[in-house]
Amino acid sequence: MAAQTDLWDAIVIGAGVQGCFTAYHLAQNSKKVLLLEQFLLPHSRGSSHGQSRIIRKAYPEDFYTRMMDECYRTWAQLEREAGAQLHRRTELLFLGMKENPGLKTIQATLSRQGIDHECLSSVHLKQRFPNIRFTKGEVGLLDKTGGVLYADKALRALQHVIRQLGGMVCDGEKVVEIRPGLPVTVKTTLKSYQANSLVITAGPWTNRILRPLGIELPLQTLRINVCYWREKVPGSYSVSQAFPCILSLDLAPHHIYGLPASEYPGLMKVCYHHGDSVDPEERDCPKTFSDIQDVQILCHFVKDHLPGLRPEPDIMERCMYTNTPDEHFILDCHPKYDNIVIGAGFSGHGFKLAPAVGKVLYELSMKLPPSYDLAPFRISRFSKLSKAHL
Ligand SMILES: Cc1cc2nc3c(=O)[nH]c(=O)nc-3n(C[C@H](O)[C@H](O)[C@H](O)COP(=O)(O)OP(=O)(O)OC[C@H]3O[C@@H](n4cnc5c(N)ncnc54)[C@H](O)[C@@H]3O)c2cc1C
Repeated sequence: MAAQTDLWDAIVIGAGVQGCFTAYHLAQNSKKVLLLEQFLLPHSRGSSHGQSRIIRKAYPEDFYTRMMDECYRTWAQLEREAGAQLHRRTELLFLGMKENPGLKTIQATLSRQGIDHECLSSVHLKQRFPNIRFTKGEVGLLDKTGGVLYADKALRALQHVIRQLGGMVCDGEKVVEIRPGLPVTVKTTLKSYQANSLVITAGPWTNRILRPLGIELPLQTLRINVCYWREKVPGSYSVSQAFPCILSLDLAPHHIYGLPASEYPGLMKVCYHHGDSVDPEERDCPKTFSDIQDVQILCHFVKDHLPGLRPEPDIMERCMYTNTPDEHFILDCHPKYDNIVIGAGFSGHGFKLAPAVGKVLYELSMKLPPSYDLAPFRISRFSKLSKAHL
C-alpha cells in the first residue's frame, strides 16, 4: 500500500452531519481537509439519514439555546450557498403536566434569553389544536422558533459545498488504523493519509475507532424505530395546515415527539425518544429485533392523543442514537494525543446543533480558542472513567 505524500491540515472520519459540518468549517477557513466515509454516499446506516429533524431553541440548558443562535444563521447560510431549502418553520409545541419541572425550566430559559414563546393553558390548547386530545392537567409551551430541517437534503448540500470550497470527500473508504503522532497517519481500506490533525466523528462506531487509541467512552448505541402514521383525513396534521412539531414530556417513560406530515404526504412522523441497545453492525438484523415495546407505547399515544391518525404505523424506518450518561455531547481532544479531536455522544439531539458542533471541532483541531464554553462537553466529566479506559 503506497503512502500518499500529501499532508492534510485535517482529516475528518465520518460523513454524518457532525463530520460534514466540521469539514465545512475547515474548508470555509481555507484548510486542506479530507472527509473519509466508510460507506458509499448517501447511506442510511448511521444516525444522520432520513427526511427530517426538529430544530428549536427551547432547551433546559442555556448553553444549547445560546449555540442555537449561530446554528440558525449557519443553516440559513448553507441554504443560500447550496441554493436549496433545508429548513421550514412550523413552531414546536411542548406538552406536559402543569407541575412538570422540565417544562418550567425550558420556559425560564426561553424567557431569560428573550426567545419568542407562548404558554398555553388547557383551555387554550383545546381551542388552538382541536386535532390533539389532551390529558387532564396538561398545558403547553409553544417555541415559536421550532421547525423542521430536511436532513438528507442538508447532507447532500453540505457535501456539495465542501467540495466547492476545495475540500475532498472520499466515500467507500473505511478507516482501519490510526497511528498517532505529528503528523497523524490514517489508513483506510484503500490508502494511507497523513494530517496535522484528526477529527473523529464516527457516530455509533466511535468506540471501535477509539479502543486502539487507548480510550473507551461511556457511549450507548440505541436502535430508534422511526414511525409514520397515516392521517384519516389527508392534510389534517400537515405543515400546510400549520400543524406544529410536538414534544410530549409526561405520557411515557421517555419523550414522544412528532413532526407534521410533509415528507411523505398523508403521513405524520411520531417517534419514541428511546430504543433498545444495539451493535451498529446489527441494527437492521432481524435476529436482534425486540423493539416492539416502544412501538406499542407509540400506538397507545397515537390512539389516545392524535385521534385523526390511524393507530398503527404505516412505515417504519431505523436510525441510531449514541447516548452519553448525561445526554450531553462529547467535544474534546483525546486525553493523550492533542491533535486528535473527538465529537461524539450526540444523544438523539445533535442534528440541529451540528453547525456549532462543527465549528468547535474545527477550532479544537486548529488549536484556536473555542467559541463556546466546553466545560459541559469535556471527557473529564465522566469521573468514573477508570484509568483502564483512558
Ligand atoms: C430517529 C432519529 C431522530 C432524531 N431526531 C433529531 C431531531 O429531531 N433533532 C436533532 O437535533 N437531532 C435529532 N437526532 C439526532 C441526530 O440525527 C444525531 O445526533 C446526528 O445525526 C449524529 O450525527 P453523527 O455525525 O455524530 O453520526 P452519524 O450520522 O452516525 O455519522 C457517523 C459516520 O461515521 C462513519 N464511520 C464510522 N466509522 C467509520 C470508519 N471506520 N471509517 C470511515 N467512516 C466511518 C459512519 O459510516 C457514519 O456515516 C435524531 C436521530 C435519530 C436516529
